[in-house]
Amino acid sequence: MSCIFCDILSGKIPASFVYRDERVAAFMDIQPVNIGHVLVVPISHAVGMEDLKEEDGAAVFLAAQRVARALKKSDLRCEGVNLFLADGEAAMQEVFHVHLHVFPRFAGDGFGLKFPETYHQKPTRASLTATAEGICAALKKEPKCDSETQQPMR
Ligand SMILES: [Zn+2]
Repeated sequence: MSCIFCDILSGKIPASFVYRDERVAAFMDIQPVNIGHVLVVPISHAVGMEDLKEEDGAAVFLAAQRVARALKKSDLRCEGVNLFLADGEAAMQEVFHVHLHVFPRFAGDGFGLKFPETYHQKPTRASLTATAEGICAALKKEPKCDSETQQPMR
């Protein structure tokens, strides 16, 4: 299976890079939300959160944080920064090589998120706790969650 981001990383397809190290690379999105829209990707191909090595995920976020700070220091119009990661087709993932969008925002730029009608219906505490317990159960291999306080245990 061909992967456009792997082709970019191997140099088969041109891209305008802003950063590269042994784990991650960052390059300009060819369809920017705003000028300065950067994609941060792991060098090692991973489709999504499930097959992304945690070390690569950490490196992706670190690079994104640095890019975000650089956008604010640059001459680009940048009053704020959004990070956006689509994991799965239902989440609007279009290229199936993990990528974290980092793009400048400014008042009136026209970008927005559409919320479902249920957005303002606040769930009950019992419902939130039941949901949290379900997620905690799925986190068995991760740092443990205290089911009494719902706080991560250190
Ligand atoms: Zn790839």
